[in-house]
Amino acid sequence: MTEKWTKGPWRCGGNPYDPGEPPFVISETEGVICTINLKRPYNIARANGNLMAAAPELYHELDMQVRNCPVCKGTGMAVDVLDLITEESPEKKPCTRCASSRAALAKARGESS
Ligand SMILES: [Zn+2]
Repeated sequence: MTEKWTKGPWRCGGNPYDPGEPPFVISETEGVICTINLKRPYNIARANGNLMAAAPELYHELDMQVRNCPVCKGTGMAVDVLDLITEESPEKKPCTRCASSRAALAKARGESS
């Protein structure tokens, strides 16, 4: 899996004392990625920018957690513990421990909405 977005780290910048200058998200290696819409108050726009700037690190950390999921060992599929008790030959199902994390990662890659 190769992510297509601009390489991190990113940071949010801007000048809170200049109401006409929108905050922006910048890659340390590739420059400005985007400016934040100033139709919202500056502090909200800056908070949105801070969240965006954290995205590469958040993605990486969540991806590491999914890859090291203790239930499915990173496969995304696991036998439910209750099925082990009640079924003779339980089938693997999507891992409930990391399914929501996998969904968030897929959304970040543009594979879902
Ligand atoms: Zn899992």
